[in-house]
Amino acid sequence: MKLSDNFQISEFTRNDKGLANDAPSEVIPILKEFCDRVLEPIRTRFGKVRISSGFRGADLNKLIGGTADSYHCATSTRCAADIQTPGTQLQEVFDWIRMESDIPFDKVILERGKTQSSETDDCIHIQYQKEPRRLAYSGATQGQSAYTKVDVA
Ligand SMILES: [Zn+2]
Repeated sequence: MKLSDNFQISEFTRNDKGLANDAPSEVIPILKEFCDRVLEPIRTRFGKVRISSGFRGADLNKLIGGTADSYHCATSTRCAADIQTPGTQLQEVFDWIRMESDIPFDKVILERGKTQSSETDDCIHIQYQKEPRRLAYSGATQGQSAYTKVDVA
C-alpha cells in the first residue's frame, strides 16, 4: 500500500526479526501525513530516503529493546521513523531539517552508531505529532551517551 508518492507501508513495517509487524488501520492516516509533510520534503531536497526503522508493533519494540513510549509505536496522533540518506552526509540533512526547512517535526535526533569512520550505523530519528515541538538533539544510539540539545531555527 502506498502512503504517499514515494513511500510504501512495507518500508515502515519491514524488520530483520521476521515479525509480521503489521500496522493497525488506525495509524495509517498519521503515517500518510508523516510521509507527505516530513519524508517527502526530505526526499525532494536530497533525492534518496531509506527508512531503517519505521513502525514498531509492541512485539517488535520489545524484541529490539525500544522504550515503551517510543514514537515508533505509532498511535493515531503520532509516529516516527529512522532514516538514512544514501549519497548525502546525515549531518547536512540534519542541519537542513532543523535550520532551513519548514518541516513540522516534533523531534529530530542525529543518532551516531558505534562505527566512527562511516555512517552505515548512523541515522536521523524524526518524529511527528499533531502539535510539533521542533526539538533537535544529537548523540550516540543505544544509550552510549546522553543526547545534546542543538539549535533550531
Ligand atoms: Zn528512532
